[in-house]
Amino acid sequence: MIIIFNSEIDPKGPEVKSALEFIARQPEVRAEMHSVQGASRSLTEIYLLGKVDNFPRETIEQFPGVERVVRISEKYRILGRHKSQADAVGFVYNGVTFDQNSCHVFAGLCAVDTPAHVEKMMAALKEHGLTTTRMGAYKPRTSPYDFQGHGKKCLPYVFELAGKYGIKVIAMEVVHEGQIDEIRTALESAGNPTGVMLQIGTRNAQNFELLKLVGQQKQFPVLVKRGMGITLEESLNACEYIASEGNRNIVFCLRGVKSHLGDPHRNLVDFSHVPVVRRLTRMPVCIDPSHSVGKRDQGPDGLLDLQHATAQGVIAGANMVLVDFHPAPDKALCDGSQALQLNELGSFLEDVRIVREAFQKRRGLQ
Ligand code: PEP
Ligand code: MN
Repeated sequence: MIIIFNSEIDPKGPEVKSALEFIARQPEVRAEMHSVQGASRSLTEIYLLGKVDNFPRETIEQFPGVERVVRISEKYRILGRHKSQADAVGFVYNGVTFDQNSCHVFAGLCAVDTPAHVEKMMAALKEHGLTTTRMGAYKPRTSPYDFQGHGKKCLPYVFELAGKYGIKVIAMEVVHEGQIDEIRTALESAGNPTGVMLQIGTRNAQNFELLKLVGQQKQFPVLVKRGMGITLEESLNACEYIASEGNRNIVFCLRGVKSHLGDPHRNLVDFSHVPVVRRLTRMPVCIDPSHSVGKRDQGPDGLLDLQHATAQGVIAGANMVLVDFHPAPDKALCDGSQALQLNELGSFLEDVRIVREAFQKRRGLQ
């Protein structure tokens, strides 16, 4: 059961205190406080754990400041919508709002290679008014002989250039606790010119210790990639691992699933799950058309499959698009064959704008 307070209620105020005292008098019931600064409102919730079957729900509903009491379904205790009774709240990070009503494009390098390419990429983003990007410094690769990313060596120039070009959030994968510290230290040394969203890659969707670690820190939000060979439910549980450690600032990313049934695409595109995740959970939902489609093949209409997939995700209500671009794809050290070129950024953003507008318009017809 979740007790949800009105948005103006101070988590340290008398209303929450008297509710906690009341709960403490109930046998075998424990209270767990969650306070979230959402995008449009702040939210204070108390989770009731233990023997809640006989908990006097009607009494607590009458307590001052209590907005409503929601019975939680078995699944996704913290992040779940619980049969639509709980709101999607979202979060604000470094001035950027992430929730189920926003839509941000994170266009950038799959892997950082040279300072010149990072600078060209960021200059293009600035020219198109984007403040969000992706920049891989740590690259878990299928083969140990492939480029593994420049790691902490590249962080100083990536962060400095991000500051120079007004980038507010960089999505960056981490595979190890030490890398979170490296990012924190490099950001501090550079004077915190930008922000980082820690990415959990598809291969780590069930690396429970890593999930707990990113959940134990609250400085950085987390982008969780769907596991490529596990069910949607298992991947959403990865997010619950993070949330249950204390960090609820999570975006869930669909990136296709591994199946030869997806051929000739790199993965079987799963963007029809966008509304499913928005319905089951309170998280904003991201799509990654680059790692789903994985190549630059083009349809007879002159549009790349990658552009079609993006549109399919956006019309389905995606809140974020993570997409590979590169100033010189043939020189990229990772995934160059799926990268869009900088002269395609304008039309890509226009696609997203048109389709997003169509989604909003369709929504308005209800
Ligand atoms: C990536 O986004 O760089 C990446 C490696 O994606 P995934 O973990 O989805 O394969
Ligand atoms: Mn990649």
